Amino acid sequence: MSAATTPRLPPCDLAIIGGGAGGVLAAMQALRQATTPLRIVMIEPRDVLAQGAAYATSHGEHVLNVPAGRMSAFDDRPADFLDHVVATTPAGGPDRETLAHAFIERRRYGDYLRTRLQEAIAASHASLQIVHDSVLELDARDDGATLRLAGHGALEARGVVLAVGNTPKPLPARGAPQLPEGHSIAAWDFDAVKAIPVDADLCIVGSGLSMVDTVLSLADNGHAGTIHVLSRHALLPLPHCHGPAATYDPAPLQTMDLRARMRFLRAAAKQAVADGLPWQAAMERIRPHGQALWQSMSIADQRRFLRHVVRQWDVHRHRIAPEVHAKLQALLDRGQLRLHRGRLDTVMAEGRCLRVTTHTRDGRTDEFDVDYVVNATGVEMRAQTMRNPLLHDLLGKGHAQAGPHGIGLKAARDGRMVDAEGNPQPRVFILGSLRIGCVWESIAIPELRGQAETAVRELFAAVPA
Ligand SMILES: Cc1cc2nc3c(=O)[nH]c(=O)nc-3n(C[C@H](O)[C@H](O)[C@H](O)COP(=O)(O)OP(=O)(O)OC[C@H]3O[C@@H](n4cnc5c(N)ncnc54)[C@H](O)[C@@H]3O)c2cc1C
Repeated sequence: MSAATTPRLPPCDLAIIGGGAGGVLAAMQALRQATTPLRIVMIEPRDVLAQGAAYATSHGEHVLNVPAGRMSAFDDRPADFLDHVVATTPAGGPDRETLAHAFIERRRYGDYLRTRLQEAIAASHASLQIVHDSVLELDARDDGATLRLAGHGALEARGVVLAVGNTPKPLPARGAPQLPEGHSIAAWDFDAVKAIPVDADLCIVGSGLSMVDTVLSLADNGHAGTIHVLSRHALLPLPHCHGPAATYDPAPLQTMDLRARMRFLRAAAKQAVADGLPWQAAMERIRPHGQALWQSMSIADQRRFLRHVVRQWDVHRHRIAPEVHAKLQALLDRGQLRLHRGRLDTVMAEGRCLRVTTHTRDGRTDEFDVDYVVNATGVEMRAQTMRNPLLHDLLGKGHAQAGPHGIGLKAARDGRMVDAEGNPQPRVFILGSLRIGCVWESIAIPELRGQAETAVRELFAAVPA
């Protein structure tokens, strides 16, 4: 777009960068908390808000990993998502109690956030302008920031919430860029996964929640081909189990080193089982303490955790609906789903198929032929390797620094972005997965809604009406 035709945006009180779930939660907080006609601008390149990788799926087999009763967008209205689910479930469907424990289709969560956003717009003193564009640069000052957008020029903002999420990882294999078109598929390209022919053999790289999504879509299609799943640890997500949390006191964990914490948790899980509870009850007990547990660990123990424990942690912490787990298990039991432990080395076109070569831990090389390869390796955590020009700009100019262990960006305890010199930026807050290095638990809705509420409250206190 030429300078003459670039639509200029009037200055705003608050700019929210990113219109995924996190950005929408921040916008709703700003609309609710505003007591004067503030101008809020949200910048998001996608046509539809509140999607991101999680809620963009239109396929009913992709369900939330958390029961509906715990997915409210607001801390002060804990049953709000459940209310929406009850209100939008056709008459004759499950009752409220059943729905509270149900794992609802993820597409309904995006609908919920968009519905509540429209309601917040209608009820607010403030206005919200949605600009479909990308922010390429951000220059932070003590009294606000200047944003540079790809198609709309500069935008002056008195406060900023940065909610840009993560970018997917490329397939970690030699030969991947040369694969025949359409045969290397990203797990989050839900429609492309759905279009895989039912008799095709395929290899899913990665064994986490994106792999689960892929397998569910294949199963929903009545897939008959072999599904190879390759991952370094060959661990599959474990199931939720409905019931109360265990009642042990988690406080002593905070002063223990990593080894002692692991021993403590194993013992707590055993005790739960001895008390007639599932092992999951022990994990549920520490779920609200995830950030405190991470922050009370030494840097050396955090590093050890990332190197040796994280995958075990993930499968126990990021659990899946029991019915989803049962489907995976059935595919494994009948040999249609084959789990391989190893590291992907190459994927090459060989005649009409793709040859996948892997290295196992004991130094062996393994090979198998498939028709498709699906990249389910998840998201980039390191800000430097994320393909997001805005993050490169922030780091390059010293407005931000990488977070602990290179994960995301460094943020102060209240969420203010920290510059290269170690000073918090007074008017720029970070929300969501970019804060994982600092606080660990920073991706699920309970954390995002709390961060959104704090960021907006602090910004409105700093920005004179
Ligand atoms: C498959 C999956 C299932 C999940 N299930 C659950 C669940 O059941 N329960 C739960 O609590 N959590 C779940 N999560 C966690 C989920 O990630 C978060 O709840 C949420 O989607 C993260 O939202 P976000 O806004 O932080 O990031 P994203 O959803 O990634 O949104 C970031 C947005 O920023 C935009 N953006 C990026 N760069 C720029 C830029 N430079 N300028 C402007 N815009 C930009 C992007 O276009 C994107 O829309 C799940 C996640 C995944 C991936």
